[in-house]
Amino acid sequence: MAIIVGLDGKVAIITGGASGIGEAAVHHFWRNGAKVIIADIEDDLGRAICDQLDESAIYVHCDVSKEEDISNLVDTVITKYGKLDIMYNNAGIIEGFVGSIINAKKSDLDKIIGVNLVGGFLGAKHAARVMVPAREGSILFTASACATIAGLGSHAYTASKCALVGLMTNLAAELGQYGIRVNCVSPYAVTTTSIAKKYGEANAMKAEALVQSVANLKETGMTVDDVANAAVYLASDEASYVSGLNLVVDGGFSVVNPTLMMAQTQGRQ
Ligand code: NAD
Repeated sequence: MAIIVGLDGKVAIITGGASGIGEAAVHHFWRNGAKVIIADIEDDLGRAICDQLDESAIYVHCDVSKEEDISNLVDTVITKYGKLDIMYNNAGIIEGFVGSIINAKKSDLDKIIGVNLVGGFLGAKHAARVMVPAREGSILFTASACATIAGLGSHAYTASKCALVGLMTNLAAELGQYGIRVNCVSPYAVTTTSIAKKYGEANAMKAEALVQSVANLKETGMTVDDVANAAVYLASDEASYVSGLNLVVDGGFSVVNPTLMMAQTQGRQ
């Protein structure tokens, strides 16, 4: 695999790095020469990944919804490495479409916002605390294609991801003067092991089949590596003039009108 020169020697925190997209990002960042800090609440999973790599990958327990955990995470990294180049706010609670707003529970909204939005907000806050004096840095979020096209996620989940995209652009406006870039990567849908664990293997397979059947890009399925590759690019110096971008990794799903495509296909028959 080609080495991304613009990641070599960079110090990168990846929240939610113990599984799924975050785990793939950990491997890709590490393979490209970054020192990686996995920040997660799944201590055993996070430490097991570090065991597969070398001393340039470490694990720090961090619940992103708690400010003291994020503050401690950033301080730990500064003490160990003396700098923080990349803050990848990826941790999130996933929810597909789960029904009407009429039955939505405020407690579910609070929980999802508490991790997906507050976690990203706090991650950016404490990263900026050390990146502003350094006058450089890259802050990245995993948002979602559901922030671009309606109906992909629950109302609470969609609200959390749309807010992340708004936060990202506002941060790009504030932090550009300090040489700090801020971007989002927004995946379509990929079934990870933790989704299968949470919803059961059979339901996960059903969801995967549905996702594949309505995908725009055929002959290939989306993988966590597709998202990790986009994150590698945005975080690295290869994207040195890219800021304020929401890079949607969805095979064109969110820009295609399937009704029009169907009408055109039928018209040709
Ligand atoms: P995943 O469940 O496999 O990974 C999420 C990780 O976040 C886990 O390791 C989990 O322990 C961690 N986490 C959860 N709450 C945390 C907290 N409070 N503090 C720290 N870590 C916490 O899911 P994934 O698919 O890899 O999701 C990663 C990100 O991608 C999420 O933000 C998700 O919303 C987003 N996303 C996923 C998909 C998809 O289809 N999988 C699509 C669009 C966006």
